Amino acid sequence: MIIDGKAMAEEVEEEAKERVERLSARGITPGLATILVGENPASQMYIRLKHAACQRVGIRSENIFLPADSCQADLLKAIDELNSRDDVHGILLQLPLPPGLDPKEAMTAIAPEKDVDGFHPANMGSLLLGSERLVPCTPKGIIYALERLGIDLEGKEAVIVGHSNVVGKPLAAMMLNRNATVQVCHVFTKDLASHTRRGEVLVVAAGVPGLVKAEMVRKGAIVFDVGINRVDGKTVGDVDYEAVKDVAGAITPVPGGVGPLTVSMVLSQTLNAAEGEARGA
Ligand code: NAD
Repeated sequence: MIIDGKAMAEEVEEEAKERVERLSARGITPGLATILVGENPASQMYIRLKHAACQRVGIRSENIFLPADSCQADLLKAIDELNSRDDVHGILLQLPLPPGLDPKEAMTAIAPEKDVDGFHPANMGSLLLGSERLVPCTPKGIIYALERLGIDLEGKEAVIVGHSNVVGKPLAAMMLNRNATVQVCHVFTKDLASHTRRGEVLVVAAGVPGLVKAEMVRKGAIVFDVGINRVDGKTVGDVDYEAVKDVAGAITPVPGGVGPLTVSMVLSQTLNAAEGEARGA
């Protein structure tokens, strides 16, 4: 089975439209502000996708562009201004930042209740303690897809390849919160295949095209390929899709899998933030 992330994202968007209407009825127009520093083409594309999604569902969105040679003080000032604006419910700082800027300090400067990427230490800490407020969008999209597929993580063997702060670590916490048995592998893991073969749910987020081959996958596994790599002008994931799809029980394609789910979760998080304000949280 192919996990159609695009179709699932469309469902999230339909739901988002209804949530926007409910907020409008209370006089609140949900707003997302993104900050883009420099002109990294991949970042520009991600920003465009997020704004287009906002537009489709009726979330007001704007981008603050800062030139690549901006200093940390410029970035913190931009964040501060957005923190204090009532019409901005979600703030998203597009990573990576140009050299010389400190992403950790910048993420920490975002008001935790507007942190739609879920990278603020308060939100990460809260996730680790089992309370999921605003959580990173890619792991949230994967959990959403599992729920939509009716797959209960409790007692399942889940294997994650990649231990980044953006994907692997928060996803491990979210899976533990749902009582899965979680293994996290990374570049220093010995004999990767011996781990990946255990996974009833296997998530690969390494940024290495073709890293996971058919013989590394348990028969019937649910496979999420997070990787986005450009090879010979084509976008491919980290999983050898053609071979693995015959072993896996279900698999996400690249493109059209985890990517659209991630974008749809930005909408859902912005609405969570706006609804939090509506509740006076
Ligand atoms: P990262 O570079 O921060 O982390 C990569 C992780 O993979 C690290 O834990 C590293 O140890 C591990 N790794 C690298 N090579 C490995 C190997 N040979 N064997 C085992 N582990 C290995 O990357 P990231 O930000 O987590 O992104 C990973 C990939 O996912 C990239 O291709 C990125 O573009 C993509 N991504 C996609 C989405 C999406 O929405 N689809 C979102 C975020 C990231």
